Amino acid sequence: MSGVAASRVAAIIPAAGLGVRFGAPQPKAFFELAGLTLLTRSALALANHVDVIVVAVAADYVANAAQELETVDAEIHVVVGGATRQESVAAALLVVPIDIELVLVHDAARPLVPGSVIAEVISELADGAEAVVPVLPVVDTIKRVDSNGDVVETVDRNALRRVQTPQGFTKELLTEAFADSKHVATDEAGLVERLGIAIRTVAGSERAFKITTPDDIAFALSLLGEA
Ligand code: C5P
Repeated sequence: MSGVAASRVAAIIPAAGLGVRFGAPQPKAFFELAGLTLLTRSALALANHVDVIVVAVAADYVANAAQELETVDAEIHVVVGGATRQESVAAALLVVPIDIELVLVHDAARPLVPGSVIAEVISELADGAEAVVPVLPVVDTIKRVDSNGDVVETVDRNALRRVQTPQGFTKELLTEAFADSKHVATDEAGLVERLGIAIRTVAGSERAFKITTPDDIAFALSLLGEA
């Protein structure tokens, strides 16, 4: 750990997805990219910046995860994830140690996130932000369509951003955001938005893209200089 923040920082890695769109026999997080699983690569990237890592995996993979993360230089906890990403993060949040002040949430499926993005998220939190997300501009023209797929309107892309991880929060805020489990969101910032809290953005990176389909592996290997 060589983080810039004086606060104790934990990272939650939701890795309990089955990866249906990915189509591998094992959960996507356990797919090996040039010799290391997506989960291990994500944990190694985070370990340079955080004190504690909590991983949520499918029940059958708890032992695998604990074993492969033994060499990662951070305090590691492994929990059983839930049926949704949100449930997996909620399960992980329950075991974040009491003395942790800041919590990052990072998809196992974004193994090539640069350290500079992780450091920037932590730095904004250390600076007083309660919630921080890395974002990229939208480069395509975006249109809203109706239920038939016909165009209704063109949306102003200048006001839109693609959101990546790690997303960073004070532990207090993230715990409050998860306290009301009726609400559903595709990311943690979505839950925080409901509380009316300002969410700061920092520059994301194309390298932090989410591996979703088999085609994404070729791009990941090219970034690693192996294809
Ligand atoms: O499916 P998708 O790639 O959007 O999932 C994002 C992250 O959330 C992945 O790292 C996946 O393993 C995790 N996830 C989870 N529990 C679920 C579903 C997804 O931890 N039930």
